[in-house]
Amino acid sequence: MDFFPVFMNIQNQRCLVVGGGEVALRKIELLLKAGAEVLVVAPALHDELVRHVEQKAILHRSRSFHESDLSGSKLVISATDDSVINKTVSALANEAGIPVNVVDAPELCSFIVPSIIDRSPVVVAVSSGGRSPVLARLLRAKLETMIPASYGRLADLLADYRDKVKLTFSTTLERRRFWEIILQGPVTELMFSGREKQAQKVLETAIEKGKAVIEGPGEVYLVGAGPGDPDLLTFRALRLLQQADVVVYDRLVSAPILELARRDAEKIYVGKKNRDHTLPQEGINQLLLKLAKEGKRVLRLKGGDPFIFGRGGEEIETLLEDGITFQVVPGVTAAAGCASYSGIPLTHRDHAQSVVFATGHLKDRSIDLNWPALAQPNQTVVFYMGLTGLEVICEKLIEHGMPRDTAIALVEKGTTVDQKVYTATLETLPEKINDIAVKPPTLIIVGSVVKLHEKLAWFEPVQD
Ligand code: SAH
Repeated sequence: MDFFPVFMNIQNQRCLVVGGGEVALRKIELLLKAGAEVLVVAPALHDELVRHVEQKAILHRSRSFHESDLSGSKLVISATDDSVINKTVSALANEAGIPVNVVDAPELCSFIVPSIIDRSPVVVAVSSGGRSPVLARLLRAKLETMIPASYGRLADLLADYRDKVKLTFSTTLERRRFWEIILQGPVTELMFSGREKQAQKVLETAIEKGKAVIEGPGEVYLVGAGPGDPDLLTFRALRLLQQADVVVYDRLVSAPILELARRDAEKIYVGKKNRDHTLPQEGINQLLLKLAKEGKRVLRLKGGDPFIFGRGGEEIETLLEDGITFQVVPGVTAAAGCASYSGIPLTHRDHAQSVVFATGHLKDRSIDLNWPALAQPNQTVVFYMGLTGLEVICEKLIEHGMPRDTAIALVEKGTTVDQKVYTATLETLPEKINDIAVKPPTLIIVGSVVKLHEKLAWFEPVQD
């Protein structure tokens, strides 16, 4: 983060604005909304500002900026089109330790003004860290359409009952559960549709019911996180991520996806590293059960799809035995993600009429698979967990009749900014990647569809 986001109390505090044009006007109106005492310094004023001065809403010094104008100011905004004045204001304010913003000159700012969605007392602020105010504004417009106008009134209603709820529910966890149940229930809908009295009644009844509203065991969401790019999450995965109390995740889950979990959610790592298991599968099953029994909403986050080489089935079997409620959310599996992002269609009228997903996991130097079936023509074969067994895979396919020059691709860290795609033939790939430090996770795609990569590759990972 380039800037620390804060909301500042400027009620009845002196704020200085240098410049009297349209840009200054917009900033001044915002400052007034937040209750500031505004002093504007400018030789000439926009008509609207003249009106504000006449109505005594703001103070005006009709001349150029002078150092003495800074005295007593809590913050300063310079909105002139004179870069010398802007620089001077910035330098002097910084010297005096007063936060300063120079419009459209991030390098002169000690703070920047975000784009906001105003549903007072709820205010959403969006910032691009000064990189692109237009981008921030576009995002703001999107959010604007998502947040109903009555959000502010809803916040006011909830504030009225905060103390009462505190008396009824003693722990933060209980209170949070209560508010989440309320906010995901009819109270919100009633407020949004203008039935405030009814909303209030429902809320009061819920508080009277007390603990009964929040009691009972928790639940488990078995969620596919996709292959890496957070944009490939499903809407449901995102929604559940933002409400779960605990997130249990493994190594394949990328950091940006974990970032989407609720800030205060507990995050438990149960990743596996080759044979060195951090927590054996049975331990994970029991952990999920224990957390759910404590009444928590547990999100088990797995790379790709939970039901494709994810042992998701085993995890929910344990829950089923104990009657814990669960749901399974599919994710984009590595084969689909890597294929799309490397421009390799898994099926194609001219190349492959079927596709097989297989595990290339090496055990005692061999891979136990139905090789004759995998070596069939007009078929794409995708190997998960196949990097250490790559040589065996190529050998076995050739041994069972696949032409030596069959195209094969190794996709490293597919769909992420670090994605790399190596293509060769069954005969040449093991040697080709011998000298390269390939990093997991990697996926292997075999079949003539791989030849389309050259033509169809579109994704541009970040080059190092
Ligand atoms: N459930 C997961 C697969 C888990 S098995 C899914 O549906 O995708 C782990 C294997 O998945 C890895 O060894 C690798 O072969 C593959 N994999 C997962 N994410 C990948 C990625 N971003 N790029 C390449 N391969 C990936």
